[in-house]
Amino acid sequence: MAVPRESGLMGRADLHTHTTASDGLLTPEQLLEAAWRGGLGAIAITDHDTVEGVQEALAIGSPGLLVVMGVELSCVLAGVEIHVLGYGFDPTAVGLRTLLDERAGERRTRAAAIVERLVALGVPVSMGRIAELAGSGTIGRPHVARALVEAGHASSVGDAFDRFLGAGQPAYVERQELAPQWAIAVIHAAGGAAVLAHPLYSPGYADFLPDLVDAGLDGIEVVYPDHPPAIRRYLSSLAARYGLVETGGTDFHGDFGRAGKGLGETTVAVDVVGQLLLRASRRQEAGSGS
Ligand code: AMP
Ligand code: ZN
Ligand code: FE
Ligand code: FE
Repeated sequence: MAVPRESGLMGRADLHTHTTASDGLLTPEQLLEAAWRGGLGAIAITDHDTVEGVQEALAIGSPGLLVVMGVELSCVLAGVEIHVLGYGFDPTAVGLRTLLDERAGERRTRAAAIVERLVALGVPVSMGRIAELAGSGTIGRPHVARALVEAGHASSVGDAFDRFLGAGQPAYVERQELAPQWAIAVIHAAGGAAVLAHPLYSPGYADFLPDLVDAGLDGIEVVYPDHPPAIRRYLSSLAARYGLVETGGTDFHGDFGRAGKGLGETTVAVDVVGQLLLRASRRQEAGSGS
């Protein structure tokens, strides 16, 4: 069946999206449908600490739409939260599997600690309801935020982050530290490419970028909803300086989260997927594993 869409390297790619497997609102199937309707040529599913959603999407498939294996790992370096995106890795690799299992378990413990704080603050939400909102997926603060809105304690998800859940707010609970260099190593060991997500959310990123480059970072998210043209130009210049692939996407969650853009509104060329996979395969061939 002929598919009426731009094909191959002419297409556009959204390389940062979430599904119900983590804190997105669309199921993998619904996300594929939305990507296909939006005329995208490629979509990477980058759920927090899980590959369940992208595996489901790969099993379903969609004609003319390239689905890219992905994941997003929350890390901390010198007290700053840094998100590392992984692409094109083998989801069955033992090191990666172990890390994902640990991180998902730790998310549940952290959610319970956040609930305790909210109860003490006089804005109670139940762990049962949060677990319901998370379904079978990994639990995150957005689920807690949605429960706070439902219970009438916050006017929106953003308000819940601003007053309770964001870094420095009274119900904020830090996660067990994962060094970004370690996340990069685990992604590489699984045969994938590692990318620094939304650098602007990590204060001081220009200072620590060389350390991540030394650890083998492959790319940097240049195109993102919150990045005006001047920021994109600056991030492009950093990519050129350090020899990084320029990636991008929407961080689509299916609702108006922090970035607040619709699927496919900020994209890169499908060719970027090839650049990432090429870096990953060259590293594998070199056999260094890091
Ligand atoms: P967690 O993985 O539990 O640390 O939660 C991180 C997620 O919360 C990210 O994927 C963002 O989508 C979302 N988030 C972080 N800060 C905000 C904010 N200020 N407003 C809305 N969503 C946010
Ligand atoms: Zn998220
Ligand atoms: Fe992120
Ligand atoms: Fe994300």
